[in-house]
Amino acid sequence: MLLFGKKARIADLCAQVATRAEEAIVIIDRNSEIIFFNEGAEKVFGYTGSEITGQKLDTLLPERFHIQHDMMIHEFGNSDSRDKPSSERHRQIYGRRKSGEEFVASASIFDLSRGDQKFYGALVRDISKNRKTEEELLRLAATDPLTGAFNRREFTSIAEREALRASRYHHPMSVLMLDLDHFKRLNDTYGHGAGDKALQRFTMICTNALRNVDVFGRWGGEEFVALLPETDIQGATVIAERLRKLTADNLLTFNDHKINFTVSIGIAEFKDGETSIDGVLGRADNAVYDAKKAGRDRISVFRN
Ligand code: GH3
Ligand code: MG
Ligand code: MG
Repeated sequence: MLLFGKKARIADLCAQVATRAEEAIVIIDRNSEIIFFNEGAEKVFGYTGSEITGQKLDTLLPERFHIQHDMMIHEFGNSDSRDKPSSERHRQIYGRRKSGEEFVASASIFDLSRGDQKFYGALVRDISKNRKTEEELLRLAATDPLTGAFNRREFTSIAEREALRASRYHHPMSVLMLDLDHFKRLNDTYGHGAGDKALQRFTMICTNALRNVDVFGRWGGEEFVALLPETDIQGATVIAERLRKLTADNLLTFNDHKINFTVSIGIAEFKDGETSIDGVLGRADNAVYDAKKAGRDRISVFRN
């Protein structure tokens, strides 16, 4: 009797923990109807326990996962052992809040069945914030903080992959090296803040004018680079001239100053058989040098 009393007390304490836990706990019966929905679940899903109890589990899932989820529960319930492998018990799922918003969650699933009475429980953790943080960290590691363009390392890594692809399939590919003209003078005349704004504006001009498949990066300082897949030297010349003109026509306003700036662009084509981008980048760089020598605000094609 004493033991019974102690057990009952522990069961009551466990129930309190389950009810008040931060983690969402949801228990369903054999018909996938929700029979338990704790405070954590109320917070995560946005429903109150009383409004969701008796509803189908589907209410908490995006529609496109309904069938898949039914199958999962069915399989889970049909497998003999209560000690399922960890891969079956722990899953990444998508949940749906009352507001309709979807979120990524990690779920641990428990088979709580006793004989004929089938019950399944899930402990659900909203990991969408971790996901966002992870994505944000990846983005920060790949881009230049001032302009948001890919940084040199990321650009190189993408470009090397594209180079292998172009070489394997014998597809054309070109590179533009873009160096802003007299940038030191712009800084000296209008201040470093104006220079920074010009770098941002230039990035915007280029990324707006380029295609989605093109890769645009900040090579360093006032030098940028663009990789144009599926583009031969003629195509690249047209694009380079467009970027040059858009830049020259653009007017930047900074502290009541109206500022013009220009760019010199070197163009080079990837050669069939090349497997690295070093060569083409070097040739594009040579072409920039020619453009500068010829008077700046112009494009120059590297001739083999
Ligand atoms: P050229 O036409 O021959 O290219 O002349 P330039 O003055 O553009 O070339 P130079 O290499 O002599 O100077 C580049 C300048 O770019 C110097 C440097 O202070 C400036 N610069 C590099 N990075 C930044 C930046 O992040 N912000 C600003 N405001 N200026 C930068
Ligand atoms: Mg330079
Ligand atoms: Mg320059």
